Amino acid sequence: MLEIKNIDVYYGVIHALKDISLTVSQGEIVTLIGANGAGKTTTLRTISGLIKPANGRVDFNGERIKGTSAKDIVKKGLSHVPEGRRVFPEMTVFENLELGAYLRKDKKGIKDDLDRVYASFPILQKRSRQNAGTLSGGEQQMLAIGRALMSRPKLLLMDEPSMGLAPLLVKEIFSIIRQINEQGTTILLVEQNANMALSIAHRAYVIETGSIVLEGTGKELAQSEEIKKAYLGG
Ligand code: ATP
Repeated sequence: MLEIKNIDVYYGVIHALKDISLTVSQGEIVTLIGANGAGKTTTLRTISGLIKPANGRVDFNGERIKGTSAKDIVKKGLSHVPEGRRVFPEMTVFENLELGAYLRKDKKGIKDDLDRVYASFPILQKRSRQNAGTLSGGEQQMLAIGRALMSRPKLLLMDEPSMGLAPLLVKEIFSIIRQINEQGTTILLVEQNANMALSIAHRAYVIETGSIVLEGTGKELAQSEEIKKAYLGG
């Protein structure tokens, strides 16, 4: 479904991504794990058209999308839940969700998806008339995920959905991610919480200072001594 090949990204003189290649097949949860500053966010922003790579290819469903506008990439079925939630605080929960569907015209489909989001996140329905800025961190994360789902993506990119959340909420968010995947959405998940990410991922890549250094199944990497030492706290 997604193939990125030989991607290089520079921020001025900083070589942030060095010859990155990875694939995500339909139906998978793939995770990209790595330390602070390794290049995880940059990888997602490159895929969704927010950063132009210096070299390389990004193919989505067999189509070259490098150079396509971020908006047209969403239209093709690729949606991004950014790091730090980024909901619109002065708008209601409902308005934030509505915005997620702004490129769609199928009213019936939008209504069905809204019902589905409310079924996955009952708290959002309860708070639908409340300003998003008044939600807790976990609720804002749910809203950010719900908003991305409102574009009915085939592939969902998620940037550190567990960041800053209490352990119980982290568990809940990961269980929701698994559900979304079971309902048919393919997922590329970026995480610093390697433990949780590897526990739900079919496959995983490890990124270090802009390069992919390891790949394998979630299970293989969770058992790797190297990974345990570097990312799983021994
Ligand atoms: P984090 O978990 O902290 O978000 P990350 O793995 O997502 O880290 P990136 O945000 O992709 O890492 O950053 C990769 C590298 O590029 C880092 O060295 C970072 O300092 C640098 N970088 C990121 N954004 C910019 C920018 N706009 N200008 C200059 N350098 C940047």
